[in-house]
Amino acid sequence: MAYKITDECISCGACEADCPVNAISAGDDKYVIDADKCIDCGACAGSCPVSAPQAE
Ligand code: SF4
Ligand code: SF4
Repeated sequence: MAYKITDECISCGACEADCPVNAISAGDDKYVIDADKCIDCGACAGSCPVSAPQAE
């Protein structure tokens, strides 16, 4: 289980700073979550202005 960032992402970067395990980084056209690091805390979903991070 891990969160995944959908195409709604506008690359604002807000979620990256709020992830407690540094699982989020900038990708080519949106931010991406490393599923091996994500602990499913949901912080990124709470900090995102467009609700791009979704629980799988
Ligand atoms: Fe990081 Fe939590 Fe989002 Fe997973 S759910 S990417 S651990 S902030
Ligand atoms: Fe993308 Fe939302 Fe993260 Fe901003 S907070 S980089 S819009 S997923």
